Amino acid sequence: MRKNIVAGNWKMNCDLPQTQSLITDLKTGLVKEFNCELMIAPSHPFLYNAFNSTCDTVIEVVSQNVCEAEKGAYTGEISVDMLQSIGIQTVIIGHSERRDTYGETDELLAAKTKAAIDKGMKVIFCCGEHLEERKAGNHFDTVTAQIEKGLFDLTAKEMEKVVVAYEPVWAIGTGETASPEQAQEMHAHLRSFIESKFGKDTAINTSILYGGSVKPANAAEIFAKPDVDGGLVGGASLDAQSFLDIANAF
Ligand code: PEP
Repeated sequence: MRKNIVAGNWKMNCDLPQTQSLITDLKTGLVKEFNCELMIAPSHPFLYNAFNSTCDTVIEVVSQNVCEAEKGAYTGEISVDMLQSIGIQTVIIGHSERRDTYGETDELLAAKTKAAIDKGMKVIFCCGEHLEERKAGNHFDTVTAQIEKGLFDLTAKEMEKVVVAYEPVWAIGTGETASPEQAQEMHAHLRSFIESKFGKDTAINTSILYGGSVKPANAAEIFAKPDVDGGLVGGASLDAQSFLDIANAF
């Protein structure tokens, strides 16, 4: 059965003391059981420290990115093996900031996904349309094309390693959230698209997260939708109490 997940994408925020302090605050707040898995994605230099500080808790530390190649002349990149050697088993791939700011193409994202899954990692695969695409009524086509190009070379078995995150770009960091109905509509669409390729069992068991200005005040009504299995949270994950309040919305 699919899992509820609340994942915090810290992006390029928090130096080492801030990373440690945020983790300390999160650990202090872990006083009850959550009805979801908790993940945090600190910046790469601090993953090892973050992993060691949380490995005795329910928090999983995940990577914000990974290289598609195994090793070699890829200055500035980080490989699957490197991540796994420090205990990291999940990676976010295809965030809109990677697509838009760094020009990561669907083909590159498919290669990254395959590289991670081939070595047994889990992938949080992001998709989402821009405002113009939604206004033009192309949002379903945009997002299904991203999923098709990024994931449809996988087998159904490999797809078990994938969590999908639907993040409308117009809602990321803008304070504007998709309505719970808009999120549900897209998540249901994505689930049936996944079913068309991988079958019903895979579709039912794939967690689909919503991302885009999720906050404690709106999390409960978004997470209440039947095809929304949690959130990928940016800004609000930088405050421990807000992040835990969002996780408590389940
Ligand atoms: C994100 O970056 O994945 C995100 C959803 O950011 P925010 O929650 O700040 O909109």
